[in-house]
Amino acid sequence: MTTNQKPIIEELAVFCKKKGFVFPSSEIYGGLAGFYDYGPIGVKMRNAIVSYWRAALVEANDFVEVSGAQVLPKEVFKASGHLENFNDPLIQCKKCHSLHRADQLVSDKLKQVVAETIPLNELEALIEKHKIPCPKCGTKEFLPVKQFNMMVSAPIGVEANANDPGTFLRPEACQNIFLDFDRLYKTSRKKLPLGIAQAGQAFRNEIAPRNAFLRAREFGQMDIEVFFDPAKVNEGVNWEEAKNYKLNIAPPEKESKLVSCDEALKKKMASGKLILYYMAKLQQWFEALNIPVQDMRFREQGDGKPFYAKDAWDFEVRTEDGWKELVGVHYRTDYDLKGHSKESKKELGVKEEGMKESIVPHVFELSMGIDRTLQVLLELAYRKEKRGAEERIYLKLAPQLAPFQCAVFPLVNKDGLWEQSQSVLQLLKHSGLSAVFDDSGSIGRRYARVDEVGVPYAITIDYDTMKDSTVTIRDRDSLAQKRAKILQLPETIRSLYSGKQSFSQL
Ligand code: ATP
Repeated sequence: MTTNQKPIIEELAVFCKKKGFVFPSSEIYGGLAGFYDYGPIGVKMRNAIVSYWRAALVEANDFVEVSGAQVLPKEVFKASGHLENFNDPLIQCKKCHSLHRADQLVSDKLKQVVAETIPLNELEALIEKHKIPCPKCGTKEFLPVKQFNMMVSAPIGVEANANDPGTFLRPEACQNIFLDFDRLYKTSRKKLPLGIAQAGQAFRNEIAPRNAFLRAREFGQMDIEVFFDPAKVNEGVNWEEAKNYKLNIAPPEKESKLVSCDEALKKKMASGKLILYYMAKLQQWFEALNIPVQDMRFREQGDGKPFYAKDAWDFEVRTEDGWKELVGVHYRTDYDLKGHSKESKKELGVKEEGMKESIVPHVFELSMGIDRTLQVLLELAYRKEKRGAEERIYLKLAPQLAPFQCAVFPLVNKDGLWEQSQSVLQLLKHSGLSAVFDDSGSIGRRYARVDEVGVPYAITIDYDTMKDSTVTIRDRDSLAQKRAKILQLPETIRSLYSGKQSFSQL
């Protein structure tokens, strides 16, 4: 009987910890809230997400990629506005002195997201009106709400002063891209629109890190910043390819609706074709991971827009635990380049053929959280089935995200089967496939172990292999088994993996 139980977030966290995928950092010292370490399988899954992002969103669009330093000088964040504006509302309980994020207390109570930019006095009024208690001691008396800056200082050098740090860890990975734009534009020999991507770490002193890495203090971001001439926001993309594609867009406070890119353009739901085109690419990226379109949405930010954005959406995916924001989708205009140009006193304009004068490019961004995306994809993939007295746990991961493409097992470790399975393993590896080998314990336990880490296909070498050079391939999801010729294995696994052929068609 199948009992696809609710993939509860806590259960997943326990599972990931138990299996060593991902677990609290400094665990032997009790852990440090908001920081996580990845074990070998977790690293493979995390790398798989980044590789798939790189292949399908960066390289497929002919963007360039950079890797920037994580410590940046104060001037950067003065210009970007983070020192002044990157705040969360902090509230302290009068009785037990515990500290909380005020907007989160209200969101949790009202069961709806409260805009991060809501004025502090309105937050206080809501807390009073709904008689929200302190989550720690239950009292309903708080000190006034204050702004708390989430920047993490990183004083560097012998003269560094902790009270006035000259350097900070970047709170969003993308700042390097703006700082490097001029050099990259000149050295990449590309014209606008120019897409620059980066996968790297960001650090935020979150008031209440929670739900594992949904809200961590160190996390990865995969950013794409597309620089373009604002006069050409309707050019530079293959509109024919996108115009009939339907995006799931939710205007502020409204339900989402499927709208073709063309219709969205006509209704001025976004500032131009270039923006809608890359929104379509993003949605398609998630669709290819088997997430149905109705379970993802672009939730338009009304008053809660980040301080730097003209158009802004949170790209969210539905889980059993509610909608989760995975990507910040922002039209940042020339906010960043102008700010850095003013602060650094460097010209950051571009003059291309046909332009009367130099312009400061505008920027459209897709900023995806690596760890948050991984957690949500694991949550969606997590399956628990009752099979008689046994319980089967497996990860129904899209093949792009599996830590290995296949597993190889000898049925027994004698009579030449072990040696034969080593040859099969080498054949697969030399054909560029990633494969894991397991020769310990019963075959049932081995299947269970690879199912738990989401390996889609397991190949077993048995006594028939020695007679006719065929092996068994077992499908993780259906548990169906088929025979295949050894020599054709790489091609077979590749065609299954890429979706060219389904398992039942084998
Ligand atoms: P949130 O509203 O959840 O605080 P945000 O709107 O501040 O997120 P952005 O600044 O737009 O997020 O960052 C882009 C992406 O980075 C987010 O969509 C999310 O996937 C990821 N991200 C942001 N903050 C965190 C965090 N504290 N822990 C893990 N991932 C995060």
